[in-house]
Amino acid sequence: MRIGAIEAGGTKIVCGIGNEHGGIEERVSFPTEQPERSLSKIISYFEGKGVEAIGIGTFGPINLDSESESYGCVTTTPKPGWSGFPFLGTLKAAFDIPFGWDTDVNAAAYGEAIWGAAKGLDSCVYYTIGTGIGVGIYSESKLVHGLVHPEGGHIRTRRHADDSFAGICPYHGDCLEGMAAGPAIERRFGIKASELHVDHKAWELEAYYIAEALTTAILMLSPKKIILGGGVMHQKQLFPLIRAKVQQSLNGYVSSDSLLADMDNYIVPPGLGDNAGLCGALALGLAALERT
Ligand code: ADP
Ligand code: ZN
Repeated sequence: MRIGAIEAGGTKIVCGIGNEHGGIEERVSFPTEQPERSLSKIISYFEGKGVEAIGIGTFGPINLDSESESYGCVTTTPKPGWSGFPFLGTLKAAFDIPFGWDTDVNAAAYGEAIWGAAKGLDSCVYYTIGTGIGVGIYSESKLVHGLVHPEGGHIRTRRHADDSFAGICPYHGDCLEGMAAGPAIERRFGIKASELHVDHKAWELEAYYIAEALTTAILMLSPKKIILGGGVMHQKQLFPLIRAKVQQSLNGYVSSDSLLADMDNYIVPPGLGDNAGLCGALALGLAALERT
């Protein structure tokens, strides 16, 4: 079985072909440009490849309401040319096959639930902590969409007592993304996040804000696994810091062995590593094919 997968990010688009076991057989990557140019590259890549379905996990916000005229469009992004662009429609016009369509983070959550760290579980939450912060939610064996789609990267967290940083989210200032995404770390300390020493106080602060958000996610959604991906989470020292702070913040209230005794297996990196997004798109494509 050959299934196409598209992981569309704000800076690059990855296209690949995989199989029903989650194996990626080939891939290409190119920078995200004007939508017409990017889509023509995507279409050329898949032409003649014989894929039976294509799954798309994309940056957004996007329209996921299949009843809406704008279904399959990117909505309010500041990315030049993409706002209102019919991403899915353009591909459907080129290939008469089933398509899966969801946010990049929902795709990653789904891929992790099918083949990765949450395999066999009926719920998980996937965070990407990178240029922005996004959250994908899989609950009772379904991806959560709701009114539009969850935007858990922009929730407000309690401010750390020693922190006067204003935050850099253009919409909210000091929301989670404004305080803890990669560019916020860089603005705060004037140095690239990847160049901060593992012992720098930045990581304690970063873990604090992420733990605040995770505490809310646990209280609101009760996920069976929390998966933290994205460039910032390459800093592996964050994991023990975050786990300890979540435990401290819940203070024993939520009664589950996962939270009380097995945190190391509860808040984890992606089982699919840096393939989480592309494998997630592959899983969406496979699910679309199975629905036909
Ligand atoms: P994107 O979110 O654009 O898809 P990434 O998930 O790679 O891409 O996130 C990029 C962000 O992550 C940048 O802001 C960068 O500073 C930060 N980042 C990348 N690698 C590291 C690292 N090793 N340590 C800390 N931060 C990193
Ligand atoms: Zn925000």
